[in-house]
Amino acid sequence: MSPGGAAGLRPLSVVVIGSGVSGLSAAHRIWTESRRRRIELELTVLDASARPGGAIGTVERDGFVMEQGPDCFLSTKPAAVQLCHELGLAADLMGTNPHHRRSYIARDGELHQVPEGFHLLAPSKFWPFVTTGLFSWAGKLRMGMDLLIPARRGGREETLAEFVIRRLGREALDQAAQPMIGGIYTADPRKLSLQATMPQFLEMEQKYGSILLAMWKARQAQGAAPRAGGRASGARYDLFLTLRGGLARLVESLVARLPAGSIQSGSTVESLERTGLRWRVRSGALGALEADAVCVSLPAGATSRLLAHADPPLAQDLAGIPYASVATVNLGFDRSQVRHPLDGMGFVVPAVERRAIVAASFSSVKFAGRSPADRALLRAFVGGAMHPEALAMDDDALVEAVMRDLRQYVGVQGAPRTVLVSRYESAMAQYCVGHLERVARIEAHEAALPGLALAGNGYRGVGIGDCVASGERAARRLIDYLTDLDAARHNGARELAAAAC
Ligand SMILES: Cc1cc2nc3c(=O)[nH]c(=O)nc-3n(C[C@H](O)[C@H](O)[C@H](O)COP(=O)(O)OP(=O)(O)OC[C@H]3O[C@@H](n4cnc5c(N)ncnc54)[C@H](O)[C@@H]3O)c2cc1C
Repeated sequence: MSPGGAAGLRPLSVVVIGSGVSGLSAAHRIWTESRRRRIELELTVLDASARPGGAIGTVERDGFVMEQGPDCFLSTKPAAVQLCHELGLAADLMGTNPHHRRSYIARDGELHQVPEGFHLLAPSKFWPFVTTGLFSWAGKLRMGMDLLIPARRGGREETLAEFVIRRLGREALDQAAQPMIGGIYTADPRKLSLQATMPQFLEMEQKYGSILLAMWKARQAQGAAPRAGGRASGARYDLFLTLRGGLARLVESLVARLPAGSIQSGSTVESLERTGLRWRVRSGALGALEADAVCVSLPAGATSRLLAHADPPLAQDLAGIPYASVATVNLGFDRSQVRHPLDGMGFVVPAVERRAIVAASFSSVKFAGRSPADRALLRAFVGGAMHPEALAMDDDALVEAVMRDLRQYVGVQGAPRTVLVSRYESAMAQYCVGHLERVARIEAHEAALPGLALAGNGYRGVGIGDCVASGERAARRLIDYLTDLDAARHNGARELAAAAC
């Protein structure tokens, strides 16, 4: 029995707005921690869409297991891995196919294998880099000049493009950094803050004075032992984890741990106001809800609109975090319809190629169990900050544009057996220069609003692991607040009872 319950007080109420992975992680932690601390709580999770999960969605059809949004998370960000363990999903965690941990980059209408040892923007091995047809000789020489260019000390924050052009040259930006790093964030490298997204490259420059030298040293430190797959390149595919059956399993497990009836899908929140010590949450579907604490786990723009009256400067900072829209197109084929050996995780397409596809995964190769053995599942990304116009196409035109590129790059023939188009409007936060200072200001304002916490991909990381961590952080903040509130109410009730005696 909670102190509140013993004293005959109403349960404390918490509303979580948004049931993406950030909101569900927050709701799960608030609920488990309130039980552990014996705080009596009413929990409500509101979401505008028809189902929980936000960007995460898995669809099984025709023997294919298709991820609509994210398909994996990084093992180096511990929050999601720990959560899977806590939810009893450890046995279902699985890595990428160890035999094909490499990727391709498109150049002049053809796919080139990313040279062995080349990771994101620079090589760590000499010969595969020297012999690749992915870069021109002039481009390779310019990248080599990184060894001679002194480290930049101080100065204003740089964009990814400024950093890469300064150290490695234009071709390294256009052909590698833009599609590989920009692609992760579906961002424009001329705006993306390197400090907020890939600070490890700044650290490399400061520590070794050269990115190439730092990459080479890192490879030496790892030991010359080849990673699984031997000829790894591209992203660190050995760090990617997913769940057997798809990431919707994570959403289902989180939902199953929340109290029955707590999730209210189809409830768009329209306003949020402070009323004395509490918050009033208005949703068209449910009317006004009074809450002692609120976790807002929405894209920053939507959060800004809700907080416009409660804290205008905070709302203004939130509104300054731009978002890009993307779509994914899953296409299932018979294996015989695809000419390419599909001996990698997929490919990226630099913006200079002017194609519809930004990147594509060979999903049935990347993870086991995504299609029957005689079929192939491909998944294309379209849109992002570099190609916003692509999202204006209707589904048929989008699929045709994707098919045109797949015919060119991997030689698909005939029509796909199955197609799934998934659109994500303003879903990918863009961490532009100044992002970290902006987030520090947002957190300072959040700290001054009792009973309010923010979570989501707009602040300190866009990956699933970052979003889980943001939900956990918001939950800790609220549960500490509720613990104090519960104790204060309990003491107040005891004093009242004593006075009455
Ligand atoms: C196509 C795609 C692929 C990705 N791939 C990867 C990947 O492979 N690995 C990885 O780590 N990350 C990936 N990401 C990023 C990651 O998936 C997202 O950053 C993360 O899922 C965001 O979770 P969230 O809960 O913060 O937001 P969301 O999932 O966007 O959830 C926000 C929720 O808020 C709801 N909402 C909005 N406005 C309101 C309102 N006014 N009232 C009520 N509800 C509202 C929405 O309906 C939605 O459900 C990908 C993202 C996308 C879009």
